[in-house]
Amino acid sequence: MNTRYDVIMIGFGKAGKTLAGKLAKTGKAVALIEKDAKMYGGTCINVGCIPSKRLVTDAANAPKEDFEAQAAYYQNAIAGKQQLTAALRKANYDKLIRAGVTVIDGMASFTDAHHIAVATAEGTLTLEAEQFVINTGSTPVLPDIPGADKSSKVYVSETIMDLAELPKRLTIVGGGYIGLEFASMYANFGSRVTIVQDGPVFLPREDEDMAAAIRKVLEDKGVEIITGAAITGIQDGTLTYETDDASRTLTGDTILLATGRRPNTDGLACEKAGISLTARGGVETDEHLRTSAEGIWAAGDVCGRLQFTYISLDDSRIILDDMAGRSARTINNRGAFSYSVFMDPPFARVGMNEKEAKAAGVEYRVVSMPAMAIPKAKVLRVTEGQLKALLAPDSTILGAELFCAEAHEMINLVKLAMDYGLKAEVLRDFIYTHPTMSESLNDLFAL
Ligand SMILES: Cc1cc2nc3c(=O)[nH]c(=O)nc-3n(C[C@H](O)[C@H](O)[C@H](O)COP(=O)(O)OP(=O)(O)OC[C@H]3O[C@@H](n4cnc5c(N)ncnc54)[C@H](O)[C@@H]3O)c2cc1C
Repeated sequence: MNTRYDVIMIGFGKAGKTLAGKLAKTGKAVALIEKDAKMYGGTCINVGCIPSKRLVTDAANAPKEDFEAQAAYYQNAIAGKQQLTAALRKANYDKLIRAGVTVIDGMASFTDAHHIAVATAEGTLTLEAEQFVINTGSTPVLPDIPGADKSSKVYVSETIMDLAELPKRLTIVGGGYIGLEFASMYANFGSRVTIVQDGPVFLPREDEDMAAAIRKVLEDKGVEIITGAAITGIQDGTLTYETDDASRTLTGDTILLATGRRPNTDGLACEKAGISLTARGGVETDEHLRTSAEGIWAAGDVCGRLQFTYISLDDSRIILDDMAGRSARTINNRGAFSYSVFMDPPFARVGMNEKEAKAAGVEYRVVSMPAMAIPKAKVLRVTEGQLKALLAPDSTILGAELFCAEAHEMINLVKLAMDYGLKAEVLRDFIYTHPTMSESLNDLFAL
């Protein structure tokens, strides 16, 4: 095996694998180091987006009654998810090998700005490269709850998707987006779900009307939401917490900790290469994703900013351009930021909501409509939710909040319009196919 490469990717994440394949095809000698062969292809395809969305989709079609039937259906769904991730893992690996990338199993750490040590099953390798890209992702934050580390009933998002037995009562700690996706999914599979969060306000960053609509849909599925709870302990599947007025116990058989993710920089020895970290432990970069060490870039979750696969993919574009001396593309010109929460129905947002517009002193007016008014929503039998957009006085689109079937697809249309300066009238008068959820933009933007 070579010990000298033009470029080494540390981590088989979205940016790392995309860059590795593209650079190898230009004739560069490229190696990619991955510490866990079960993670070939990264978080997204193994323990993140793809398996969770497959399970969300399966859960929406689960039997509605009879726990035994639901448990059997769930077991099949988990087995199907495992087949899917295994196939994707292999496809991701084969693609890089075909492109001429050397994939090395091992844990990488810097020894200086041009060398890494890779701890492999056969011993430690020393590798040298002109350039490196750090793409080591993030890892769940484990809150310091007494007893949590001793309970075999405690899971994180990555591990619960391998739990073959459907929980009867699932407690989710954390009311963030991953917590909501799992709450909606497990409630659809047939579990009794409770969300417990320490903050007093449910979805504090969303507009109150949207947060209330989301809460109602979850509660209609039987999900209980407890806010302002200080968790005091975990014993097996049982959790104790205190609110202003009382100390309570939530008895259950499974607990999911969904309390955020932190950048994976432990063990990388960034300091040996002169790479600065942020106060929260992410790799510090400039807008071109250059680290403080020349010839070393960082991409994706490890930077400690937005944690999404499409951001990691866009990071790979920025780095590829920067390596080629084209530096126009940066993290500051990605256009309006959009995201989707894959509940049932999904919630998707782009640009500003009312809270943000008010805080920024931006003049706006609101257009909105209930999902119930959309013919395709009736066809799909998913009529819950509402759609809302913010317009500037000249009908520039400032943002949209869509809570309805297919919201995760529709939001991309609105982002396209925003990024290319198309005003609300364009979406209002556009000819959409019928019957579709996107044709509702004709009505939403009817000024
Ligand atoms: C349950 C869940 C659902 C999600 N759903 C979505 C979604 O619907 N849409 C979306 O856009 N995002 C979603 N995300 C977020 C998304 O998965 C991540 O933002 C994305 O996968 C991060 O990719 P990355 O390129 O930063 O690195 P990753 O894909 O995390 O890859 C990093 C790799 O580096 C390896 N590694 C770490 N340290 C070392 C080392 N020292 N040496 C060698 N290898 C190392 C790791 O094993 C890992 O394989 C979800 C995340 C979770 C957990």
